[in-house]
Amino acid sequence: MLTERIIYSSSLPWTFNVASASGSHILDPQGRKILDFTSGWNVVNLGWNPPALIETAIAQLRRNAYASVWTGDAARTSFAEALTEALPGPLKAIGRATGGTEANEEAIKTARAYTRRYDILGLWPTYHGQSLATLAVGSAPATMTDLGQLAAGVIQLRFPAGSGDESEGELLESFLRQVDEALRTETVAAVITEAGLVSGTGSTLVAPSGYLKALREATTRYGTLLVLDEVGTGFSRCGRLFAMEREGVVPDIVTLGKAITNGISPMGAMVTTREIAEATGELTELTSTFGWTPVGCATALECLRIHQRDRVWELAEAKGRRLVRALRSGLGGNAVATVRGVGMELGIRFNDGVRSVTGTSVADSVVARALADGLHVVGDRDRNIQLMPPLTIEDEAMDRGVEILLRAIQAVVVH
Ligand code: PMP
Repeated sequence: MLTERIIYSSSLPWTFNVASASGSHILDPQGRKILDFTSGWNVVNLGWNPPALIETAIAQLRRNAYASVWTGDAARTSFAEALTEALPGPLKAIGRATGGTEANEEAIKTARAYTRRYDILGLWPTYHGQSLATLAVGSAPATMTDLGQLAAGVIQLRFPAGSGDESEGELLESFLRQVDEALRTETVAAVITEAGLVSGTGSTLVAPSGYLKALREATTRYGTLLVLDEVGTGFSRCGRLFAMEREGVVPDIVTLGKAITNGISPMGAMVTTREIAEATGELTELTSTFGWTPVGCATALECLRIHQRDRVWELAEAKGRRLVRALRSGLGGNAVATVRGVGMELGIRFNDGVRSVTGTSVADSVVARALADGLHVVGDRDRNIQLMPPLTIEDEAMDRGVEILLRAIQAVVVH
């Protein structure tokens, strides 16, 4: 889909141009103030353009903008130390990346190099990036089968998202039986999953509790690495600094991106153990021309300090609870939709019988109506809407957003 000579994905079509943004609001070129419930898809977790981060980035730009692949600098060293101290357990070795896709590619490469196995177990539907391998591991659009095989050595299982028919325990058990069957072959290098939920597809799917612990046990049993993709769930979004902390699970590799610099500089990271890094370095040759620039690292360091100083994950937990309560009470039970999620990674799923007055997708209709009333939300273009407000959003702005959203649902939904 071409808009002003730029190619946009048809699943993520262009919506509006941004003139400026601050806190929880975006201004469009006509001066319209739009309340944001997307955080740019889990990027501006601290709100749009926090002054402290802008000042840090400008100060670093004045000192030096770029460090080449052969050099490092104080900002990189300091952020590497701060990040690995903030992560749990032995995750002390960093692969530099420019974003989530690249970090996940590094994870796949590292897992294959360490285990000397080839297969990667991914889940469906999930999203881990736009490269051929990450598309193969997650959910590539059906039309992409026309492009031929995306990547070899990929096994997929369905993500165990609650359907309402089975108890959570049964759902997890049947999923684990399939995992065991796949891993028992001892050909699987890694299982790659988000940390207990799916945030990267336009809908919010939540795994039964115990999911991460059980995957940790299964992967350890068969010598498979556990890769947690915290690109969307990291940096306080899910009520902890990293979502893996909810179950106290330490993976072999974690990947990060999105909120790492709060949108100021493209950046990502693959973090693994010293042992794995030392055993694989010669084979994986991790390098990236723009991975971990001085501006990115200085900003990421300040950003992490703010998360830790303000315990932003506690805001996410409290505000998330308030948002769920307001939505559930406004929707008046589960007749139209259910609300689910973790921390401030929330979603509304419209029930199967629910239609829109216009005949187009329920999600599209609600998203369009909400935007007309000044609220930016996104969905999966089918029957799911994702709610990811900045974690610093003021209560009254959030309440206003809920009002707009409920009004939009009332106006366009038939059930
Ligand atoms: N993993 C997840 C869970 C994501 O949501 C995304 C982006 N939506 C990615 C990986 C890819 O990150 P990037 O777009 O920075 O390459």
